[in-house]
Amino acid sequence: MFPDILASIAAKHGWELQYVPGTWSQCLERLESGEIDIMVDVAYSEERAKKYLFNDESLLTNWGVIYTSADVYVHGIEDLKGLRVAVMKNSIHTVSEEGILALLAKFSITPSQYIEFQSYKDVFIALDTGQADVGIVNRIFGSVNEALYNVVKTSIIFNPRQLYFAFPLQAKRSKELKKVIDEELRILKRNKYSAYHNALDRYLSVRAMAPSHEAQGAGGPEVALTDEERAWIREHPVIRFAVDPEFVPFEFLEEDGSYHGIASDYVKLLSERLGITFERISTKDWAEAVEMARNGRVDVLPCVGRTGDRKNFLLFTRPYAQFQRVIVTRADAPFITGLEDIASLRVAVQVNTSHEGFLRENTEIEPLLSETLKEALLAVSNGKADAMVGNLAAAAYWIRKLNLTNLKIAAPAGTEELNLHFGVRSDWPEFVRILNKGLVTITPQEEQTIMQRWVGVEFKTGIDPTVVRKYVVNITAVVLLVLAVILFWNYRLKREVAKRRVVEAKLRYSGELKNLLSEISTDFVNLEYPDFDNGLRQAMEKVCRMVEGDGAYLCEKNENKSWSCDRYWESGLSGRGVRDLFASPTDAETLWLSKELLAGKVVAVDSVSAMESGMVPNSRDIAGRGVGAFIELPLKYGREIKGLLSIVCKGDGREWTSDEKDFLQITGQVFTNVFMRRDYESSLHTRSQELQEANRKLKDLDKLKSMFIASMSHELRTPLNSIIGFTGVILSGMSGELSDTQKDQLGRVYNASKHLLALITDVIDISKIEAGRVDVYVEEFNLRNVVNEALTTVEQQVKIKGLAVNMAMDEEVIMRSDRKRVLQCLINFISNAVKYSEKGEITIQVELSEDMVDISVSDTGIGISEDDLPRLFEAFERFESHLKVKAGGTGLGLYLTRKLVQDLLGGDVRVKSELGRGSTFGLRIPMDLETVEKGGNPNGMEEEA
Ligand code: ADP
Repeated sequence: MFPDILASIAAKHGWELQYVPGTWSQCLERLESGEIDIMVDVAYSEERAKKYLFNDESLLTNWGVIYTSADVYVHGIEDLKGLRVAVMKNSIHTVSEEGILALLAKFSITPSQYIEFQSYKDVFIALDTGQADVGIVNRIFGSVNEALYNVVKTSIIFNPRQLYFAFPLQAKRSKELKKVIDEELRILKRNKYSAYHNALDRYLSVRAMAPSHEAQGAGGPEVALTDEERAWIREHPVIRFAVDPEFVPFEFLEEDGSYHGIASDYVKLLSERLGITFERISTKDWAEAVEMARNGRVDVLPCVGRTGDRKNFLLFTRPYAQFQRVIVTRADAPFITGLEDIASLRVAVQVNTSHEGFLRENTEIEPLLSETLKEALLAVSNGKADAMVGNLAAAAYWIRKLNLTNLKIAAPAGTEELNLHFGVRSDWPEFVRILNKGLVTITPQEEQTIMQRWVGVEFKTGIDPTVVRKYVVNITAVVLLVLAVILFWNYRLKREVAKRRVVEAKLRYSGELKNLLSEISTDFVNLEYPDFDNGLRQAMEKVCRMVEGDGAYLCEKNENKSWSCDRYWESGLSGRGVRDLFASPTDAETLWLSKELLAGKVVAVDSVSAMESGMVPNSRDIAGRGVGAFIELPLKYGREIKGLLSIVCKGDGREWTSDEKDFLQITGQVFTNVFMRRDYESSLHTRSQELQEANRKLKDLDKLKSMFIASMSHELRTPLNSIIGFTGVILSGMSGELSDTQKDQLGRVYNASKHLLALITDVIDISKIEAGRVDVYVEEFNLRNVVNEALTTVEQQVKIKGLAVNMAMDEEVIMRSDRKRVLQCLINFISNAVKYSEKGEITIQVELSEDMVDISVSDTGIGISEDDLPRLFEAFERFESHLKVKAGGTGLGLYLTRKLVQDLLGGDVRVKSELGRGSTFGLRIPMDLETVEKGGNPNGMEEEA
């Protein structure tokens, strides 16, 4: 799609396009480095938007879909636990915030392994060849390619994304390209017949999803083989295959040894379309055919089911026919419902068939092996065995043919439909792909023709010639007979037509069910918190209308294990009555029909009046509320039943078809997924609200604390000032001579009080800043004067220690800022430099860059160790050194300085220091505070060590 659309834009603007091929990761790298100008088909994410420029008009929406290999069953994402998951490297559905990695992490689901591939195609191949259990691809790739591989699509979809063009962030042309493309896209989207809409039609319509049948010429449709595949076929001129001689109607041999049946038609069609010569190798029976395939003496078995054992030596194509596995017993045998009931019986099965494999893999039954299906049936018929397991169509054929009137088809063995595939020797994966490509060109009509041709076989009513001979003497009788035959055929024809109509209607209905399912899934993907209730209700209405129900009820298990039924959709049913029925169970133990539902089974009741007694509640209770038939689906998270979805019909005696049951079962899973998402998002929502509340409270408390300290400190400072004042006066001798002891002790009082005052002053400042109660007074001043003023406060100390002071300031700096605060910061830096130096010099350097002033104070003092540096600007941090006591201090100076610079002066502080060598403290603030936006930190400097 993208190349088509881009080509039309390029043509209009005279661009020459050159495509640079690469894997997805390579392409992304090239885009980032600017090696390419445009990348097509890039899903948007915030993460990516930091690296690339996206255009504004999206082309379409895509999302992630989970596929599995043919023998893995996944119903919800929790089933991915412990599985091997194939993903494409750097795909948006792998690594973005809502990609599969993040999604599984959110739900704490850990697969056994993630296997990374360079393309989605490789992901499918990995599923096909059994290297992975589950694979993630996008929906478009999936729908176009799923038919080519042996993969199964699940109903789990996630991470909807818009697709765009992307450009390198740095490149000069990007902005221009983006602008042109967006403008053109807007025009293309408006015009219904534009390249944009053509591309959508061409690649995304239902027609496009199926392989093209338009090109169908005399030799059937063209199969899109690659050069390598054609070469492979040339190199393998003859393919040897072996068959089951009596697998009617799927494949069988006539007396003359000719090959017939559904599979034979597929072999013929594929041979024509792919230009392959198939050669049949004769075998005594099916067992021998399988043996020969195992030993590599034949290449293909055209009609096999998958079993664990066969996987050791065969690869399988996509299935092309289905059959049902059934249990056959004698007609007088006790009633059985499934495999459980024959566990202790003698069970016959045809050797080396998928049925044998099935029994061995899934049951404890030790089967009695028969060479042929016929023998297995005879064994049951004459009492050597109690039951046999085999396929329905073939068993029915032989029962009829052998006229085994004492046998009956007793029950299905397992519920799944079994697939028939071409089995290909395991070292020929190329051939599997070639056959798959051939198989997808076979149209539904062709499939139907083949089925009709062979499925009728067992009903062939031959008229016995001896019967005719017997009556031929009597002309009237012949006429009557002919008449009867004609009538009979007419009658059959009518019945056939009626039957076919029903089949067609069923097919159509089943298609509609599938469409609705994908519609609902898509709706749910687009749901946003907290819209789930509405979404669920709408989906329930759609589902209910589709299966012609009169009401849909969604009951949920609450936190306290009680049940409620707040979500429902009804048409013509009497509200509360039915709802109570579904909501009344107070705990899972007394649930309706609890046993089946708890086991996760769907319970479908066609006729309430004919309901078995012993069900809870009983049929009269239900019928009394206007319910004639219903179906219930358990909604399960893992093992736990979270809810029940019930569809109710007023009329008694409605038949729930297997299509409907399947559809509802999957719908149930989709609903469960929505529940999970809703629960997850609502708990996230509550939690983030709680956090916000807690945060707000904390902030209030913090402010309160700061205000308290601010006022307390003020109360403390007043008496302290008088203590210092009067002690000073006494010390100066103005109020009389003092003894040396008195002088010494009073001196301590004086120093301690001054320390206390400094502490309180700093605390007040800090508290005020933290409480947001400091106003900034901006005025114009000359920075040199402020530096000089700061230096005078340390003059005395500098002289005593014999330190040199240098000032490097090239030009006069006139600033507009809070002079008092700038001075305070400088005093803190300079006084520290003096306090923590014993010799050498102190250098003050002022530099200008753009609108910022950078002032640094360097000393040649004791320095600060690397370990201490990170805590330097924290409150009350004072580091161990021989000067610690002598220098005196509060440990608040640097903390306060940083607060002043960051919160009031709009700048930042930094430090660089080496133990024993000296330190440089710096601050960088705007020259003009008023031109800087409030609250911003314009330079973002960080501490450097
Ligand atoms: P104080 O009141 O203790 O000086 P400050 O917050 O100003 O509090 O400094 C915190 C600590 O950082 C000091 O106790 C000292 O250990 C260290 N420090 C500050 N400036 C220097 C410097 N120029 N040289 C060495 N150490 C310093």
